[in-house]
Amino acid sequence: MNDIAYLNGEFIKRDQAKVSIEDRGFQFGDSIYEVIKLYDGQLFALERHLHRMLKGINRIDINFNYNLEELKKICKQVIKKNQDYPKSKSGSLYIQITRGAAPRSHEFTSDLEPTIIMYLLPTKKYSQALRKEGAAAITMPDRRWELCSVKSTNLLPNILSKQEAKEKGVIEALFVADNKKITEGSSSNVFIVNEGVVKTHPATDDILNGITRSIILDLDYHDFVVREEKFSLNDLYDADEVFITSTTKEVLGIVEIDDKKINNGRVGPITQKIHQKFKNYLNEYLD
Ligand SMILES: *Cc1c(COP(=O)(O)O)cnc(C)c1O
Repeated sequence: MNDIAYLNGEFIKRDQAKVSIEDRGFQFGDSIYEVIKLYDGQLFALERHLHRMLKGINRIDINFNYNLEELKKICKQVIKKNQDYPKSKSGSLYIQITRGAAPRSHEFTSDLEPTIIMYLLPTKKYSQALRKEGAAAITMPDRRWELCSVKSTNLLPNILSKQEAKEKGVIEALFVADNKKITEGSSSNVFIVNEGVVKTHPATDDILNGITRSIILDLDYHDFVVREEKFSLNDLYDADEVFITSTTKEVLGIVEIDDKKINNGRVGPITQKIHQKFKNYLNEYLD
């Protein structure tokens, strides 16, 4: 099976979609990306993702002329072109925009043609058992740069941390900045619950402001509050509950960190309530 990719205005078979060796995305990681989840063939939170992407493009000065509506149309066309493939039902749409191809040189000019790529990814499966029982994580130093708010493809610190997590048999590496403050995971945002208050790092340049994270902050809750507030490594270890969020993971309980049990190794009630609220929002969105 060969699905259809979008490359600079054309729809072609994914294994035939090629970019130049001089592309700055390949040479320097000079590019931005998005992963948008499909539920029953529908792109969830499409506008939020595209809005974040356009902000990132603007932040790093890529010469890009598409607006939100034009991008939305292309995204939907990619799904349509692939409607016979299972990935177009429950996979994810991957988008990457690079600054474009040019003879290799660190500095760039403002006239480059950006490279635009879109194609479907299969979904990573998180089993019901894992959702129910929760997952384990480790902490690692946050070795990233000072503009983590940009979803750039410069992911070397992220991938090396995730690989270490995998080798230790856990699901995620949670980043500790300046030896004390928890920022986020290698590809997820992290929340703690402390005496009925749910906290996640504020949306500064120290974290990537996840769409899942921002939806959770936007929802209304009755018996607890969710707010943006910094917390320490000790707060993380001592938390009543910990969970991580991302487009593919949704809300996932973390019950063990660095071999220390959280909530006696069980997914907590507030984590479950927030995940349920998120799923309700998702179902309303898709209706
Ligand atoms: C993409 C990403 C997330 C999660 O963001 P979502 O929009 O919810 O998928 C969190 N942290 C990092 C570093 C990311 O790259």
